[in-house]
Amino acid sequence: MKNPPVNPGHFMLVDTGLPSSEAKIFKRLKKIGLSWSNVRMVVLTHAHIDHAGSAVAIKALTSAPILAHALEVPYCSGQPPKLEATGPFGRTFQKTGAIQRPFSYFEPDEIMTAGEMSLDDRGFPLKIIHTPGHTPGSVSVLTQNDSAVAGDLAASGVLLGGIVLRAKPKRPPFEEDKQAVATSLELLLQRGCKTFHLGHGGPLTADGIGKHVSALRRFQL
Ligand SMILES: [Zn+2]
Ligand SMILES: [Zn+2]
Repeated sequence: MKNPPVNPGHFMLVDTGLPSSEAKIFKRLKKIGLSWSNVRMVVLTHAHIDHAGSAVAIKALTSAPILAHALEVPYCSGQPPKLEATGPFGRTFQKTGAIQRPFSYFEPDEIMTAGEMSLDDRGFPLKIIHTPGHTPGSVSVLTQNDSAVAGDLAASGVLLGGIVLRAKPKRPPFEEDKQAVATSLELLLQRGCKTFHLGHGGPLTADGIGKHVSALRRFQL
């Protein structure tokens, strides 16, 4: 099978970090020999402040279109996120209100409505898969080499992706629907995903994710 065309020098940014993350992102781009002009598309795994907080600033610097799922549009435009804490850390967070702080809201340039979307025609050999659960409009980016950038579908490490216990999966501080999370992770496993890159901690292996799914399913019993 012929590989889809790939445009050298065209890169996609998945998530934009907290507000005012531009300098940090630029530093990382420079480190791998890129600049803002190389960023041709921005995909948001979901629109919590720590993932969408710099979307407006990044768009101004890159002119790249921002893609998000239709079910995430309310959060992009300022509806406070529903916060179902998964444990004490989430509850503390909830009390501080940090995750519900306002940020620069926006209307995504491209709104995904399907369960799956190929970006082959944009020169990115990637698929975007709707993987709800953490939020209703969460998506994962699936690469050709069986890796997924899965946002906050799972997490690892102490606190938010700390340096210890990074290989041990755990639930992120918030999760709107844990059974939907389990179903979404199973879908990525069925699609052959072997490495899971996460917003906090990771990467995790398919084996670790499989165990995490079983743990989530046990809540139902
Ligand atoms: Zn999140
Ligand atoms: Zn997050």
